[in-house]
Amino acid sequence: MKTIKILEIPFTFFDHKKEFEEKIISFLKEEKLHSIFTPNAEIISIAERNNNLKKILMNSDLNLPDGIGVIFLAKKLGYKNLKKLAGIDAMKYMLSLAVKEDISVYFLGAKEEILRDMIKKIEENYKGLSIAGYHHGYFLKDYEEKIIEDINMSAAKVLFVALGAPKQEFWIEKNKDKLKVRIAMGVGGSFDVLSERKKRAPKIFINLGLEWLYRIFQDPIRLIKRVPNLFYFLYIYIRG
Ligand code: UDP
Repeated sequence: MKTIKILEIPFTFFDHKKEFEEKIISFLKEEKLHSIFTPNAEIISIAERNNNLKKILMNSDLNLPDGIGVIFLAKKLGYKNLKKLAGIDAMKYMLSLAVKEDISVYFLGAKEEILRDMIKKIEENYKGLSIAGYHHGYFLKDYEEKIIEDINMSAAKVLFVALGAPKQEFWIEKNKDKLKVRIAMGVGGSFDVLSERKKRAPKIFINLGLEWLYRIFQDPIRLIKRVPNLFYFLYIYIRG
């Protein structure tokens, strides 16, 4: 395990799944909320222009290197052989760990029908998982307190927040003193993938670090929205 700062944001790289699991268990033992984020090239490029987001990432309990962009920046700083850990993979590891250790989880985010599909798939794929509760991610501000109450009443230990970045980062930061969970993790579009409505890239893309390319072409409207951030990331990379 190695933690390095990239553009002032600490990233932790794990050598093995076991190491990651140990970190999660240590978080669960401590009586406080631990925030976990998975910044990728796009989030880094937004954080470079949004100081509030940057501060949240600088002060979180764990940032995982979600994607090849982070690995490229680390290489430029002289760190070789570091492994990425995609948010979706980290979430899957945590779900397996939750089954093994009997840890209850709550899911917040995504569209209602996607969330329902995901719950079904998760019940099939993670038999015995203790699902404390769930709520879709399209709620009005006035309803937020009710959701927080529901999460706290459920006594969930882990909260997965899939509101998209950077919305989920701001949401967790804003509510961290009210939430009684031990871990709150921003997981972006992971619920869509776990619902199996959206396909993940084929293994070859993932292994070549080209998952982002696959995702962009899967949804061309997203491509247009993302171009400025990707160019900004390129600028960050060249600028050093
Ligand atoms: N999402 C949500 N509430 C919102 C905005 C987004 O629940 O107000 C969900 C969306 O349905 C999707 C996830 O957040 O499941 C990720 O959204 P997006 O693809 O925009 O973000 P990214 O994958 O880039 O983090």
